[in-house]
Amino acid sequence: MNMKRLTKRMTMGAIALVCMVGVALPASASENNLLKKDPKGAYVPSETPDLSSLHSQPFSMKVQKKDEHALGPSNPSYTIDVDYNSTTHKAEGTLEVSFKNNIKNNLSELYFNLWANADVFKENGGGMNISDVKVNGENSTFEMNDTALHIKELSLRKNKKATVSMQFEVSLPEQQDRFGWYGDTVSMGNWFPILAVYDDEGWNVDPYYPYGESFYSLSGKFDVTVTTDKNQVIAATGEEVGKAKVSGDKATHRYIAKNVRDFALEMNPNYRVISTKVNNIKINVYYSGEHSKYAAALLESGEDSIRLFSEKFGKYPWPELDIVTMEGWFGGMEYPQLVMISLAGDRPLDWAKSVNAHEIGHQWFYGIIGNNEYDEPWLDESFASFAAALYDGELGSLQVDPIEDSYYHLSNQISDFTARADEGGISAYYYMIYNYGSSTLNDLRELLGDEAFYSSMRTYFKQQKFGISTTRDFISSMEKSTGRDLMPFFRDHRVLLSDQE
Ligand SMILES: [Zn+2]
Repeated sequence: MNMKRLTKRMTMGAIALVCMVGVALPASASENNLLKKDPKGAYVPSETPDLSSLHSQPFSMKVQKKDEHALGPSNPSYTIDVDYNSTTHKAEGTLEVSFKNNIKNNLSELYFNLWANADVFKENGGGMNISDVKVNGENSTFEMNDTALHIKELSLRKNKKATVSMQFEVSLPEQQDRFGWYGDTVSMGNWFPILAVYDDEGWNVDPYYPYGESFYSLSGKFDVTVTTDKNQVIAATGEEVGKAKVSGDKATHRYIAKNVRDFALEMNPNYRVISTKVNNIKINVYYSGEHSKYAAALLESGEDSIRLFSEKFGKYPWPELDIVTMEGWFGGMEYPQLVMISLAGDRPLDWAKSVNAHEIGHQWFYGIIGNNEYDEPWLDESFASFAAALYDGELGSLQVDPIEDSYYHLSNQISDFTARADEGGISAYYYMIYNYGSSTLNDLRELLGDEAFYSSMRTYFKQQKFGISTTRDFISSMEKSTGRDLMPFFRDHRVLLSDQE
């Protein structure tokens, strides 16, 4: 490591290292203040969450026989009908999801992720209850354990469609978060039971990760009907169908979203909305009065990001994108067609624009090109951070050395970082996945040259659009596009295929 690189490392990377120190230690007031200076665009909680549940999965999974190329259940199509009560902060309703059993003969079980049951939400009044589970119209045996729902004793035929229905009641916690309510703002990210993914490692029911994401779901269709107070202004994944139906003091809204892997909502009766169009895509910024000064900047950075990333990585595929402002310390949070920008405190305008670009970058890396965010967090976070640096015009400053502890790899699973939480594993997660990861992609760009790099990225986009990518898929796609052996490059950058096997 030469001193020049070290200096650059200190300017770029030390921010994340310094500010995350408070995470692994008992939180004092000053450490909490440091914590609030998060790495740009990262999901950083305001308090130090308890990580004890992170080392066991909600259900202890048997070691599964490797089932090459399994990825399902495929083509999920959700119909959700829910009532949100703004006084009790509860959403109650029904969910029906149809899918194809492309996994195995006589599929005997299914899992759903119930993220609302994570400890960090339960501590603040959140949680979810499930009842009346039916599979193809028949009552089914089910069991709930933390953030997982296990439906058992099934016999679903391969390559046939099946339908699961259930009733659910979800309480929102009072907290500034991607899921919760605070003041007038209601954030509904990861709020409904979502089908877990079965892949070559079996069912994925990893625990909720409070410093990042454990989310993993397949693209499908959503038809969501929401009834709530008629004065609520709602931003949502998808597009609203027709006008809301008003009855008394309630209004019913219906949204349809296609080729999305999740469905989020954000509402506030005091939201104002400004909109523009770019490449025939409607961009809306929903903002409350105290965030007025950010509205135009967020719309501008939204428009520039969509245009830039469509050109460099592949066309933004949906008709609409909503950018919503909210209170919260976490920087930003991505959902398909909806990004949350948390503006607690007095955030500078440029910070908000850059965070917005990071979250919009996730529309490509997580939204369009999906991945298992628990097993391979770098595949979305490093790429979104690279996208934000591209937007900021700061690719040249992405020259970051990896952390000295050689057991931290860029391709590590989240559990590899949290297992070392006491020694600063959470700081290492932010540093490696955000800073060193985006720097690695920039090194790859410099190695290949702009033309070959972006053209290969567009090929990767076409191959993985609406699907699930892995580290192996990314490397193999880049190697095929460029005709080069890139394994030495990735090995030098601590991207190891063995981390995922
Ligand atoms: Zn991110």
